[in-house]
Amino acid sequence: MKKPFVTLEKLQEIVNEYPTPLHIYDEKGIRENARALYKAFSWNPGFKEYFAVKATPTPHILKLLQEEGCGVDCSSLTELMMAQRCGFAGEEIMFSSNDTPAEEFELAEKLGAIINLDDITHVDFLKDTLGYIPKKISCRYNPGGTFSLGESKEGFQVMDTPGDAKYGMTRDQMAEAFRRLKELGAEEFGIHAFLASNTISNDYYPALAAILFRLAVEMKEETGCHITFINLSGGVGVPYRPEQPANDIAVIGEGVRKAYEEILVPAGMGDVSICTELGRFMLAPYGHLVTRVLHEKRIYKHYIGVDACAANLMRPSMYGAYHHITVMGKEDAPCDHMYDVTGSLCENSDKFAIDRMLPEIDIGDLLVIHDTGAHGHAMGYQYNGRLRSAEVLLREDGSTLLMRRAETPEDYFSTVIWD
Ligand SMILES: *Cc1c(COP(=O)(O)O)cnc(C)c1O
Repeated sequence: MKKPFVTLEKLQEIVNEYPTPLHIYDEKGIRENARALYKAFSWNPGFKEYFAVKATPTPHILKLLQEEGCGVDCSSLTELMMAQRCGFAGEEIMFSSNDTPAEEFELAEKLGAIINLDDITHVDFLKDTLGYIPKKISCRYNPGGTFSLGESKEGFQVMDTPGDAKYGMTRDQMAEAFRRLKELGAEEFGIHAFLASNTISNDYYPALAAILFRLAVEMKEETGCHITFINLSGGVGVPYRPEQPANDIAVIGEGVRKAYEEILVPAGMGDVSICTELGRFMLAPYGHLVTRVLHEKRIYKHYIGVDACAANLMRPSMYGAYHHITVMGKEDAPCDHMYDVTGSLCENSDKFAIDRMLPEIDIGDLLVIHDTGAHGHAMGYQYNGRLRSAEVLLREDGSTLLMRRAETPEDYFSTVIWD
């Protein structure tokens, strides 16, 4: 069963100070999870997690992760600016972008970030932009085809289709890019790939690692390049549904270690650092969207109208994603009512839940929508003139910290030129 990280009593206190809807984050959970990740990869002396800023671009969160040893993975100008302002510098910043404007490469280089090139043509684009090639550089790999993992009852479990993904370079382009970068003065090389998203499997990272480790050995042999880091990127998922099993990061770290010892160590590459760019795994379970029930409506279906909408959390309306809902104070009541839980947008897709069995809901009840700590507030928007909510941190000592205030109509109108 999924349990909120905050009690009804505490939540009532919080919403008295910060009105609903609001996003709330659990400092304790974030820190403990980051520590478990570092423990799982402690066998690799150079290990570093570069938190994918796009998942939760909130400075207090980034600084909290920095205290736990994390860097940041940026993919846009403003994400780089935020990283800089939070005090990240040099190799604490990974710049993994695609379709990249020149000014973004310029800022990344100015900050000393590690640049991860998405395409073969970006080698010369980067050289022309900067006038040189940085000494440490990374290339993103796309093996094409479909990426599957082991056997399931239905046969191979297809995880994703890299062949349809816009990212990365082909096998041949990787070798060509490495040769050209070396010619242009690069000395330390990295390999990056992101082959599947939100995987609920302890086998994803180890399988990806084996692919990248083999490629690294081949690249070293073919090009003579010194590969010093391999970036497993994001994609380790979280169980959004209560019946899904959680990934075990200790098992995942051990699986990657095995592949490392089998493939890299015998090739004399036991000095390679592992990096990750996890977003969802680092934050999703440690955020709740808190919303209050405004209306109840009975027509052909039974609707519960809340004060949050898809502008606060887009995943259900965009992907049909499941987000678990707890009716606060009714955790032990039977789930014997079927509801659609809706927001107020003039879009029928604005539903947080469809045909969901929940306890009987009353107007004024507080609902916790789970697993919104990543790709939640971050994907917010202002359609229908709806405004993005505040973000509050629940600290380990039980106090709260306002990390981002709620938008006001002045914010909404601030870009308008009236006459
Ligand atoms: C989105 C993204 C991530 C994070 O992905 P999660 O699924 O949130 O772990 C990491 N790296 C890159 C390049 C990304 O675009």
